[in-house]
Amino acid sequence: MTAATFQVYNMFNIVIFGAPGSGKGTQSDKIIERYGLFHVSSGELLRDHIAHDTQLGRIADSYISQGLLIPDELMIRILLDHLDKNEDKIQKGLILDGFPRTVNQAVEFDSMADDHEIRVNAVIGLEANDQELIKRLLKRGIDSGRTDDNLEVINRRLKVYHDQTAPLREYYLERDLYCSINGEGSVDDIFANIVKEIELRMNK
Ligand code: AMP
Repeated sequence: MTAATFQVYNMFNIVIFGAPGSGKGTQSDKIIERYGLFHVSSGELLRDHIAHDTQLGRIADSYISQGLLIPDELMIRILLDHLDKNEDKIQKGLILDGFPRTVNQAVEFDSMADDHEIRVNAVIGLEANDQELIKRLLKRGIDSGRTDDNLEVINRRLKVYHDQTAPLREYYLERDLYCSINGEGSVDDIFANIVKEIELRMNK
């Protein structure tokens, strides 16, 4: 990435973190509206490739439809390509939604941060129990048309989350970046708690 043009010190970059169905997309929209951040949803990026029937999309589809993570290297390539193409839109910062999903992806992103001086400033962790998540995802599945919003694939996605993604909580806690947010309750109450955490960290 030719990040020389990034206004590093004015940027505030957020990772929105949580299991499938934890409300990452909903809360991202509200955060973007308030802070003008550039939204990067890894799931949407992949679905876009699938919709355009690209070669990467065809590979990604074979993992997504089974509820499995696509390989780190492929995910990082797609993400960097997207950031490169949108460099001019990333003035105030980024909200990363659905990325990183493995410790390896976080390490890769952080090493890129060193090279390009773009770093994560806060990780908003939306926490909710599995029964609530399953209920929400099944409800979403009625309208979403997503191939992965059915009970069998939802269960696999939750297992993948606990095995491969949840360890990131520890990774970000150790770096003093993790903000624990109760993801159950009204959208507005959850958002109010997120704003408190963001403001605390923006003003640090
Ligand atoms: P999402 O829309 O965030 O729920 O993502 C949908 C699916 O896309 C996931 O179940 C994975 O198969 C794939 N995916 C999204 N983000 C990532 C990522 N960071 N790493 C690997 N696979 C991903």
